[in-house]
Amino acid sequence: MQIIRSVQEMQALAYELRSKGQIIGLVPTMGALHEGHLSLIRLAAERADAVVVTIFVNPTQFAPNEDFNKYPRELEADVAKCAGAGADYVFAPTHEEIYPKGYSTYITEEHVAKPLEGVSRPTHFRGVTTVVAKLFNICRPDIAVFGQKDAQQVAVIQKMVADLNFPVDIVVGPTLREADGLAMSSRNRYLTPTQRQEALAISQALFKARDMVAAGERRKDRLVAEATHILSQQRRIRVIYVALVDRRTMEPVREVEPGNAVLAIAVWMEETRLIDNIVL
Ligand code: AMP
Repeated sequence: MQIIRSVQEMQALAYELRSKGQIIGLVPTMGALHEGHLSLIRLAAERADAVVVTIFVNPTQFAPNEDFNKYPRELEADVAKCAGAGADYVFAPTHEEIYPKGYSTYITEEHVAKPLEGVSRPTHFRGVTTVVAKLFNICRPDIAVFGQKDAQQVAVIQKMVADLNFPVDIVVGPTLREADGLAMSSRNRYLTPTQRQEALAISQALFKARDMVAAGERRKDRLVAEATHILSQQRRIRVIYVALVDRRTMEPVREVEPGNAVLAIAVWMEETRLIDNIVL
């Protein structure tokens, strides 16, 4: 497996791979890789001839008060994990490679990015769409794999790809969870044992909603109320939102249309912001 640090080198490689007729699969990440990320790499390896994992803690998707500086960085361990999961290349550019001095171009999706995460993190998706568009231009993938864990990110990227005619197929991998239900996340390492225990209420709220839907419940009010109630039992949790939305538009829905609704949760677990969701 090869590590690439410069944009120029990555573009030359992408050109070479494509001219040989290889299907390029891209897995964008911010590193601190866990099994959830690795499952996306394996998914890419099933569908592509050459798998490129990008590792870049993208500053433009963090607000000034967020955890950009403390976000875990462990490139060496990540590279070993990528190799084990079947990646062929790791593209790990420096900040200056992606945002050279004087950088001034941004991409904003102006509808799907607005609710939910967009309310409390108004500049977040602008950073995501900008860096993903750049990674598409640099790595020229045929397919790009994203995790359902970030449901709104998936919807925003799919909208950007459709609106801007990127010739990239978006593949969505399921959310990987710890054995007790907690969605895997690089941010889980911020949690103390007590916080981690209380954080189980998030997945429990989602699973309860799934069970209610399986038993025939469709109404948003009932599902949101029950999930909110479960979260409210934990004194360290502060709910940011519990919302039933359309999987593609992120607009609120009043009733579950099976397969098309997402119950999305964001909370503060004391100083750590956690998100999770389930497709209903
Ligand atoms: P991140 O490094 O947090 O930017 O995530 C990189 C990719 O991994 C994104 O597409 C995420 O949605 C995905 N991802 C994060 N956590 C999980 C998980 N628990 N299961 C599956 N995919 C995940």
